[in-house]
Amino acid sequence: MTDMRYEAPETLDAAIALLDDASGGGKVMAGGTDVLVQLHAEIIEPEVLVDIKNIPDLKAMSQTEAGWLVGAAVSGMTIVDNADFATAWPGVCEGVALIGSVQVKGRASIGGNLCNASPAADSVPAIIAAGAVAKIIGPGGVRKEPVENIVTGPGQTSLGDGEFIVSFSFPTRAPHSGDCYLRLTPRTEMDIAIVGAGVSLTLDDNGTCNAARISIGAVAPRPLLVEEAANALIGTKVDGTALENMVAAVRAACDPISDKRGTREYRIKTAGVIARRAASKALERARAN
Ligand SMILES: Cc1cc2nc3c(=O)[nH]c(=O)nc-3n(C[C@H](O)[C@H](O)[C@H](O)COP(=O)(O)OP(=O)(O)OC[C@H]3O[C@@H](n4cnc5c(N)ncnc54)[C@H](O)[C@@H]3O)c2cc1C
Repeated sequence: MTDMRYEAPETLDAAIALLDDASGGGKVMAGGTDVLVQLHAEIIEPEVLVDIKNIPDLKAMSQTEAGWLVGAAVSGMTIVDNADFATAWPGVCEGVALIGSVQVKGRASIGGNLCNASPAADSVPAIIAAGAVAKIIGPGGVRKEPVENIVTGPGQTSLGDGEFIVSFSFPTRAPHSGDCYLRLTPRTEMDIAIVGAGVSLTLDDNGTCNAARISIGAVAPRPLLVEEAANALIGTKVDGTALENMVAAVRAACDPISDKRGTREYRIKTAGVIARRAASKALERARAN
């Protein structure tokens, strides 16, 4: 292993300069729960490790007029312990709560969960369904990107050289809205998803669905936003027929691998089951709000 420099900048500008100077040899670290494993296994050998947790914008979490702003390096435990955020986005909290153990969540961030770019990352379908938007900074300035556009394949993101995510914005919830994230794993904890599904939906005053977003994980090279599945619910009372149409659209979008956790056929079948359960729970929450 070659020598590696560790840096912990306290400003966005300093982090940008460090990554820019490293010309591709820099690696961002938030909680380090993926990065440290990869360093030990010599899967990655960066010249400079840039720890972003000392930058205030990355660690801030607040409710704004536009919704919620969650710093990209805020720990999972901070997110799930925030009662107001959990009321607004219970499904996002369900996704975050499934990341490893309490100890892992004490370090792990949603920025890291997203940018590690595992197709099975638990918070990612939930934040895609929530319509979260990432604020990205880098040598070219600031840009915003819907989170479904960040992961491009296993271990691959659309972030450019020297770019990193500062924060995620979550929109204000309309009345009668609910979300949910569910996953299927071979074990109950500390394993990755065979299938994950995030559903967020909104009902009008008559109980008709007027907005929906559905995202599935672990059943394609990257987490997917499945617009056809959402369209199957919009304009309906989310009755049995609408849910069956949604399930069919989810299954049609799947393109999973077969591995020791489940075959391709099993993943496609269970993706529909898990998405249906997540939609039913999101509906129950929307009706209660
Ligand atoms: C025992 C154990 C159990 C686990 N169980 C689960 C599980 O059940 N579900 C699950 O989804 N994950 C699980 N994980 C994986 C891991 O904990 C998560 O992916 C976690 O969310 C990563 O966050 P982090 O802050 O630690 O990321 P880091 O390890 O710091 O970074 C991960 C990747 O993201 C990049 N990155 C981090 N922050 C940013 C940023 N702001 N902008 C750009 N790039 C960034 C890093 O360069 C790196 O490539 C587990 C890990 C362990 C060790």
